Amino acid sequence: MKIIAGNWKMNGSRSELEKMVSDLESVDTQNTVILCVPFTMLGVSGCRTLLGAQDVSTHTHGAYTGEVSAQMIADTGAKYVIVGHSERRQYHGESNNTVREKAEMALANGLIPIICVGETMAEKQAGKTMAVIESGVRESIPSDVQTDIIVAYEPRWAIGAGLTPTHAEIATAHKLIADTLTQMGLSGTPILYGASVNGDNSADIMSIANVDGVLVGGASLKSEKFIPIITSVK
Ligand code: PEP
Repeated sequence: MKIIAGNWKMNGSRSELEKMVSDLESVDTQNTVILCVPFTMLGVSGCRTLLGAQDVSTHTHGAYTGEVSAQMIADTGAKYVIVGHSERRQYHGESNNTVREKAEMALANGLIPIICVGETMAEKQAGKTMAVIESGVRESIPSDVQTDIIVAYEPRWAIGAGLTPTHAEIATAHKLIADTLTQMGLSGTPILYGASVNGDNSADIMSIANVDGVLVGGASLKSEKFIPIITSVK
């Protein structure tokens, strides 16, 4: 059983989500399917699909115009929240410390954080991939985690680019993350791969050791592209 998580980014509408949810109802799968959608679409009712947000405030409440708290997200019935997505790190300057604070807020409010780590092209070219991944895991995950978390390895240079690392690179990155999580007392934490996953490469990618599922951006927006990813693995 794998975890297939979609990240709609700033795309879609409530009616498109309702259609997706209805299309997913008839999919025969044991896999866990999650859709992380814009805040305005959370709360769509009656779906087997589990919903999540794409970001959360580091604050609990108060004078933080435009922010959305973990409690508010949980109040919609959502179960998950992505934290530290590369686009948040890139466009909003989020550091590992900020990501950890967001994950702490999620956990304190009963949400499962999907904590993203991954290297930029500059870091890859400088030979820093492993160091960036390891520090991302160690610094972005709260200490003393008592409930479920999910980690997503997303090589930032490959997101939305139609590029994927080699299988060996994915395997090495996921082994490092699995070993680091074990050292942190978090063995068994699911590790997703994300970046340019589609229906043609998803089964191969999910056959790699320590790949427990995928985080899918562009190909999660339409059911004709998302469903083949969900059904590509048992
Ligand atoms: C993402 O945004 O998390 C992602 C993996 O995007 P894409 O699948 O479009 O590369």
